[in-house]
Amino acid sequence: MIQQGRILRYQSGFYTVDHDGKIVTCKARGRLKLQTPDSIQTDLIAIGDQVEFSLLPDGSGIIENVLPRKNQLIRMVSGVKYEYRQILISNLDQIFLVFAAAFPAPKLGMLDRFLVICEKQEIHPVILVNKIDLVDEAETKAIFKIYSEIGYEVLYTSATNRRGIKELQEKLTGRVSGFVGPSGVGKSSLINLIDPTLDLKVADVSEYTSKGRHTTVVREMFPLVCGGYLADLPGLKTLALWDIEPEELDGYFPEIRPLVAKCTFSDCTHNENEVGCAIHQAVIDGKVSQERYQSYLRIRFGLSENNPSF
Ligand code: GDP
Ligand code: ZN
Repeated sequence: MIQQGRILRYQSGFYTVDHDGKIVTCKARGRLKLQTPDSIQTDLIAIGDQVEFSLLPDGSGIIENVLPRKNQLIRMVSGVKYEYRQILISNLDQIFLVFAAAFPAPKLGMLDRFLVICEKQEIHPVILVNKIDLVDEAETKAIFKIYSEIGYEVLYTSATNRRGIKELQEKLTGRVSGFVGPSGVGKSSLINLIDPTLDLKVADVSEYTSKGRHTTVVREMFPLVCGGYLADLPGLKTLALWDIEPEELDGYFPEIRPLVAKCTFSDCTHNENEVGCAIHQAVIDGKVSQERYQSYLRIRFGLSENNPSF
């Protein structure tokens, strides 16, 4: 009998599948592995995937098919002979980009690169600014205002005095969410406030990469007591901008997107030396933020140097 479920966890060849709230331990059907061409090294089954599985008489299952993913978060693992596209998680409803207002200071260049990944993958981003108790709130809000002005959701929280926690919980309820952000910004503290039962479960999994480093990777997504699922994802630095053409980048900056048609030349690269560039002009006129424009240029010219990661 074929059933449908969602992959919550992977460990040593076994997948934990959530089937209407019931947990079924599954293995992958052997032929699933044969379907990938040799040239593409990637995960066939990822956390978050919707799968079809056959239920065996002993209560375990065999995964027969992976349904098309609505989005996926990729991490490039460079090996000696090949690059491996590790799918950290798929089918997210939203992702929280978690920064601290201070200690550590927010890295907006990192945020901008991450927003590009969200735009490309069509994952709804929510910018979460934690540790708001440590700073002058008006000053911090002035910094993040450029993001709300271009349409991004910005949420301010403090795990210390529980500011914004109820609002965060409401946003998580019934949705599949990921948390991503540098270490030390308060992700674990926030997760523990949202769902204290996760306290013991959220443990780092270490993985040895070919670069000889131990890195933390998600291999699990947790059901929340309030309904929905949450995954604590690894740091932003390991996530790659992949398969993005330099000219495609325009579409992933919401404030740049509508201006492109106004540039004098259709092949305008929008750098400071282009003649009649509507984007550069908008920066001069104060309509596009200088910082966002600098992020755009850094990413764009990084991409044309064929550098997929950042
Ligand atoms: P993670 O690495 O992102 O999971 O961050 P942690 O949750 O481990 O928090 C790092 C440090 O910041 C800990 O010492 C926390 O007590 C502290 N911290 C977390 N959230 C807040 C907050 O909202 N305000 C303040 N003042 N400290 C916080
Ligand atoms: Zn231009």
